[in-house]
Amino acid sequence: MSKLTDKYYKIFKLEGEQGYENRAVTGGIQRLAEIWPSDAREAGLQESLIPAITAILHHYPNLDTANRRAALLEVGDLLSIPNIQTLAPIREKAPAADSPEVKETAARPDGRSSTQPTAPRPTASEKNSVVRAPYEEQVVRSKVNTRMKEIARRPMADEQAGLDAPITVIRGVGEKQAQHLARMGVNTLKDMLYLFPRRYDDYSRLKTINQLRYGEEVTVIAKVLDFNRYPSRQGRSIVEAVVSDTTGSLRLLWFNQDFQMRYLRRGQFISISGKVDTYLGRPVIYFPEYEPIDQEQLNTNRIVPVYPLTAMITQRWLRRTQFNIVNYWAARVPEFMPESILNQADLVSLNEALRQIHFPESQEALAAARRRFAFDEIFLQQLGIIRQKRQWQQLTGTPFAVEDAWLEKRLQSLPYQLTHAQQEAVAHIRQDLAQDHPMNRLLQGDVGSGKTVVAVLGMSIVIQNGAQAALMAPTGILADQHFQTVRRLLTQENNGIEPLLEPGQVRLLTGDTNATDRQEILAGLASGYIKLIIGTHSLIEEPVVFQNLQMAVVDEQHRFGVAQRAALRSKGSNPHLLVMTATPIPRSLQLTVFGDLDLSVMDEMPAGRLPIETYIVLPAERERVYGMVSKQVAKGFQAFIIYPLVEQGDKEEGKAAVEEQQRLQREVFPNLRIGLVHGRMKPAEKDAVMLAFRNKEYDVLVSTSVVEVGVDIPNATLMVIEGADRFGLAQLHQFRGRVGRGSAQSYCILIPESDAILENERLQVMTETTDGFVLAEHDLRLRGPGDFLGTRQAGFADFKMALQSDVRTIEKARTLAQDVFTQDADLEKPEHAGLKQAVNIFWPAENGNGDMS
Ligand code: ADP
Ligand code: MG
Repeated sequence: MSKLTDKYYKIFKLEGEQGYENRAVTGGIQRLAEIWPSDAREAGLQESLIPAITAILHHYPNLDTANRRAALLEVGDLLSIPNIQTLAPIREKAPAADSPEVKETAARPDGRSSTQPTAPRPTASEKNSVVRAPYEEQVVRSKVNTRMKEIARRPMADEQAGLDAPITVIRGVGEKQAQHLARMGVNTLKDMLYLFPRRYDDYSRLKTINQLRYGEEVTVIAKVLDFNRYPSRQGRSIVEAVVSDTTGSLRLLWFNQDFQMRYLRRGQFISISGKVDTYLGRPVIYFPEYEPIDQEQLNTNRIVPVYPLTAMITQRWLRRTQFNIVNYWAARVPEFMPESILNQADLVSLNEALRQIHFPESQEALAAARRRFAFDEIFLQQLGIIRQKRQWQQLTGTPFAVEDAWLEKRLQSLPYQLTHAQQEAVAHIRQDLAQDHPMNRLLQGDVGSGKTVVAVLGMSIVIQNGAQAALMAPTGILADQHFQTVRRLLTQENNGIEPLLEPGQVRLLTGDTNATDRQEILAGLASGYIKLIIGTHSLIEEPVVFQNLQMAVVDEQHRFGVAQRAALRSKGSNPHLLVMTATPIPRSLQLTVFGDLDLSVMDEMPAGRLPIETYIVLPAERERVYGMVSKQVAKGFQAFIIYPLVEQGDKEEGKAAVEEQQRLQREVFPNLRIGLVHGRMKPAEKDAVMLAFRNKEYDVLVSTSVVEVGVDIPNATLMVIEGADRFGLAQLHQFRGRVGRGSAQSYCILIPESDAILENERLQVMTETTDGFVLAEHDLRLRGPGDFLGTRQAGFADFKMALQSDVRTIEKARTLAQDVFTQDADLEKPEHAGLKQAVNIFWPAENGNGDMS
């Protein structure tokens, strides 16, 4: 036995004799974690074992007695301590009076062989630890020993606990580093394992210096031969480095970056990235990025991870630390995904995925690892969503049905024919309302597709049956707009059809409603006289009591939080719910994003609309755009001009709406009336300006992105978007949707911030189509699912991998989650035990995210 193993054996033995009460070492076994690494290195122990053992020692006090013994056995095995199995067994009730002399002679009082079928044959060392004891106690002990062996055979006594150990248990991770890592959300070993590289340097695809071509973006590895700083004209300075590989040499140049002198080292190998240029016929890279490389890493790994960093943590340090951790711990993370799912989805194991995501052996292995993690995220998320959907379906609601003839009459009363898409959505809603569990439907339709009338028809069905309905909009002006529409549709005689309601039965409640009206409305809702209430947040903030609310409609659902939707719903008892959104989600992602909702998609525009003409105009030609504004206004129409930012101080680039409004009014359009609306205004102020614009008190409305949502101003025919390249496709599409709502030809002008942006694919796509779904598919292709799942849908924001994944994986995960749910909704089957745990970790709170209700 070596000195090292001897020392630890003695400590562990003493600890066992003392009943694993963590008394063998002053300060506890965990203190060994501090001195252990230097011991181990002195003994020449294999480096990769050190962090593992450190973690076990560190965690020792948190374990119970049984697991403490297993932990020490584990350390013993790792250290190859030959007689580690002789550690004292765990004391049950009676203290184990263990002594080597009695062991050999230990005989069973009943004379039965120790190889009875209920217990596996003990190993020699286990036999050694068998003590004289009454038979019953021996059986108990032999069962305990079996269990212990199982645990001990596992890589670590308590894997979960080990993975939850703080990262300071790792050699070389001190309190300081731990604090910095904590800022990246990394606290435990498991967090570390899930701190994925943000990119990889693939040295297997490297070029040698003699292969470099002018204009190429390249990465090369070379040795720093020499570097110097030269003064240049006008007090500027140049740092020049000459690097070479076996095929040639290359010059690197930085202007006015003297600090580079401090980072360069002669003889050091660096990886250099940049664009190849030439100077006097020789290759050169100006302002290259470079990073010292680890030759050791390079030899073993052609694909090297590059981690996200925070202050004080270096790439090199993090890479090395990860290497240690991954080496040991990646294999010890328990698999939670059932075998059958792994097979069906063709996924690699969790252990393999963890290893390959950090230190990939090949691009293929890396891709497989990424796919696995993306799958996990979506799969767990979907299981939760499906569970929620079921909970919803188990609620009891009130069914409402109407005759075909009745509906026919209501349709005849409309000033236009419904589109096919609208008819279909109405049919869905009618069907839902007839069920005895509440509707939970999302109506998704592009701007201007006519969602309002669909919602009104749905609410009419409920009202026809004597119950009440509520429609909530995110702004006062939208609420007012809906109010006007509903009044027209329901309280007037249209096409000779009698109105459904008296004017007083449809009311508007917003922050602007005066006290008298408010009293009247509250009374009318409580008595049941008012059948349809339209409003803003006021509907849930005020002490509104309904006589019998049976249908709640939420417009522009993304503007409301889960709590607000729930609050509206709670004004009735399980009312039917319809949420509406104009944010097009690509078809391929719809089911994933809205998994807990039934979905109606309206992808058709009312007939007779002239498509909006869209042009890109360069900043230098802005005068022409101003000409267009004047022309449209002269024809009696109105225009929007959108700016990316509100006054942000002098240095801020981008046009400030506030300053621009003043400039336009003073210098460009002194004869026009120019309104201003921006995000820093109070809601009531915003509404007042929008209302004035709709009432044609302004010719031009200068605005920031606040104008985005649902406003209907049919007289506006021109939408000018400054700094257009700063907006995403979805947002540009929403802006454009503000015009083209009347019968006149409308225009959308995109002015990018600089000429260079002409190739901008987003802006090009905008000129090619006005179909929100087509644009959404483009956006998906350009930016990946992240844009949809991450920034637009709250519940997906934490996803790391799914956002970079492909749509097919996402779809597969959703389908398989559905399958699992169909077979075993509560995840009671044994093969789903790990999964159940994972789902609960993923969805910690009841009804966490994804609740669209
Ligand atoms: P959104 O789906 O963006 O909320 P709205 O419900 O505000 O759209 O409808 C946009 C405009 O289209 C409204 O002026 C509405 O009266 C009109 N509209 C709705 N449906 C039809 C239709 N089937 N035919 C013609 N016009 C329609
Ligand atoms: Mg709308």
